Amino acid sequence: MVSSLQSAPAPTRQADPPDLFRVAVEQFELAADILGLEDSMRQILTHCQREITVNFPVEMDDGSVQVFTGHRVQHNNGPGPTKGGIRYHQNVTLSEVKALAMLMTWKCAVVGLPYGGAKGGVTVNPKMLSQNELQNLTRRYVSDISPFIGPNQDIPAPDMNTNAQTMAWIMDTYSMNAGYSVPGVVTGKPLTLGGSEGRAEATGSGVVFAIEEAARAIGLNLEGATAAVQGFGNVGSVAALEMAKRGSKVVGISDWKGGVYNPAGLDVAALKEHTEATGSVTDFPGTDAISNDELLELPCDILIPAAIECQIHAGNAPRIQATIVAEGANGPTMPEADEILFDRGILVLPDIFCNAGGVTVSYFEWVQSLQWFPWSLEEVNSRLQQIMQKSFAAIYATAGEHQINMRTAALVKAIDRVADFTRLRGIFP
Ligand code: GLU
Repeated sequence: MVSSLQSAPAPTRQADPPDLFRVAVEQFELAADILGLEDSMRQILTHCQREITVNFPVEMDDGSVQVFTGHRVQHNNGPGPTKGGIRYHQNVTLSEVKALAMLMTWKCAVVGLPYGGAKGGVTVNPKMLSQNELQNLTRRYVSDISPFIGPNQDIPAPDMNTNAQTMAWIMDTYSMNAGYSVPGVVTGKPLTLGGSEGRAEATGSGVVFAIEEAARAIGLNLEGATAAVQGFGNVGSVAALEMAKRGSKVVGISDWKGGVYNPAGLDVAALKEHTEATGSVTDFPGTDAISNDELLELPCDILIPAAIECQIHAGNAPRIQATIVAEGANGPTMPEADEILFDRGILVLPDIFCNAGGVTVSYFEWVQSLQWFPWSLEEVNSRLQQIMQKSFAAIYATAGEHQINMRTAALVKAIDRVADFTRLRGIFP
């Protein structure tokens, strides 16, 4: 039986989403051309080392059994253990997980972490499952991929629709099988279980550290600047709050259900309370209702797509009005749109740099877990800010040097680094 839990309606996304792995390879080739990368290296780096697919049964609350499909893909382990989140979504496909695993390799390389990239996903609409069913699903999926994960091998983390509780179940399942506690097997854990201060907010905070650097580079004052945010989850809500803290006016915010707009600026903290109470940003008093598509085209200085892939495409890129597009989400901009935005002089902060705050603080958490020695929030945030500053400067300089967009520049830096590891290590046997 094909489960209705796996075929619920998709959130807003361009009709017929493209093959995401093909898009990732297309972006790779642009940077590889600039580097003059040899064919053998292109072949190695455009393949994922391991693609694991598991079909596993889960006992549901009504006593029935449903079989779900999940994946864990490890793109490249040259720089170190592989690292990347696990997502639960009805649209998860192997192609998407492969693309995201590859992006994780570049993301870790761009910010200089000792990791290769991985990603996991289960094809399920988690909104249709109870907590108990979610726990059963998580524990069985992790049991099935457990020979391939571990603190020195592959370290999962939260992604779309997974959170600290999911990570706690993963840590416990892995530890029960090992016979002792292994906090280093997963990051994004609750604080009590060895999670890091600042991890939950890290992706959103990192996005705003990135925006600060970009604004400084182009002479835009964040105080009084306007911003629109697509997505009000873990990334979008923190980014919106941080922008407001810096004196920016957040004029539009949307989520899976729709969006709200107020040109005078939204009270982001109050909107967060409204969302917690009602489940969505929609119907927030004193605002105009807008669609997700309209949000992307709002007049504003900074646009933060922080929801899902394929949001900015050839169809709407000519109408984007922002000066800076800061990619909180993974893969929100299609290659054709990248070209249009670059030609129009819009500065795109690419996902592999802009949202790298999450995996960066995951790295801090992993180090703390391996050493059983927690850091303070101040230490986490100041190290995160330093890494975002240094990475921005390097990517911006590369973009200027080759007259290329920031995505290709970030990929040039990342691919060069991973290729170096590959060359130095050589091919075994
Ligand atoms: N899922 C997040 C990402 O896409 C975080 C990954 C991690 O912390 O390992 O970057």
